[in-house]
Amino acid sequence: EPIVEVRNVSKLYGNTVVALQDIDLSFEKGHLTSLLGPSGCGKTTLLKIVAGLLQPSSGEIRVKGKPVNGPGAERAFVFQDFALMPWASVLENAAYGLKVQGVAKSEREDRARHYIGEVGLHGFEKKYPHELSGGMRQRVGLARALAVDADILLMDEPFSAVDEQTRRKFQEDLMHLREVENKTFLFVTHSIEEAVYVSDRIVLLSPRPGRVSEIIDPQISREIS
Ligand code: ADP
Ligand code: ADP
Repeated sequence: EPIVEVRNVSKLYGNTVVALQDIDLSFEKGHLTSLLGPSGCGKTTLLKIVAGLLQPSSGEIRVKGKPVNGPGAERAFVFQDFALMPWASVLENAAYGLKVQGVAKSEREDRARHYIGEVGLHGFEKKYPHELSGGMRQRVGLARALAVDADILLMDEPFSAVDEQTRRKFQEDLMHLREVENKTFLFVTHSIEEAVYVSDRIVLLSPRPGRVSEIIDPQISREIS
């Protein structure tokens, strides 16, 4: 049964920009889906709608069967700069969700350290958000979400602008997480190579208006190349 369902979702900005049109998708537990497509095709818009940060103009998002904006709904975690506390260190930020849950300090710090390592930020525990790049900040958000065992993990180009070697290392960290954590990952990228490398399924969006143009099984692409 799907964890997240996107049902007939359209999104207009103003009256003229059709950012998304008639999107129907579902996301299973334990799978990593990439949203792939050129700039402006609506990837970020779709991610924000799934996260409940943006209302669709029509259609509906369901998380575990409940509408995201309805009562008792679970929120997906999206990783953006604003999610971090600028006055707190990477370690404190990663441990924050556990603090809210009332987990004792030594245990929450142990768990936060573990996930900081898992997202490839070992050694950055004492840094502050302003000392990190956008992609690194997203990964601090990812560590926080993993520490509290969030089911749905959303990422918007968390590996952009790093050199090839670093990028490959982060991609491997993500694939490792996907193996060991039975979660629903939704990942935005404009890199076909990256999408083929890390995902179980690629949703290709086409722009103006943003629609699903193809669903690709990366296994097949890997065998061809
Ligand atoms: P992507 O993430 O694939 O680059 P976006 O979701 O950011 O695409 O944008 C999809 C379309 O919606 C683009 O044409 C973009 O210019 C437009 N758009 C995005 N955000 C806004 C906004 N706040 N107001 C008006 N138009 C927007
Ligand atoms: P953005 O999303 O803002 O473009 P990135 O996360 O892609 O930022 O990283 C930008 C810069 O930060 C790159 O120079 C990269 O090498 C460096 N960087 C990111 N993560 C690490 C890390 N774990 N260790 C060392 N350098 C890192």
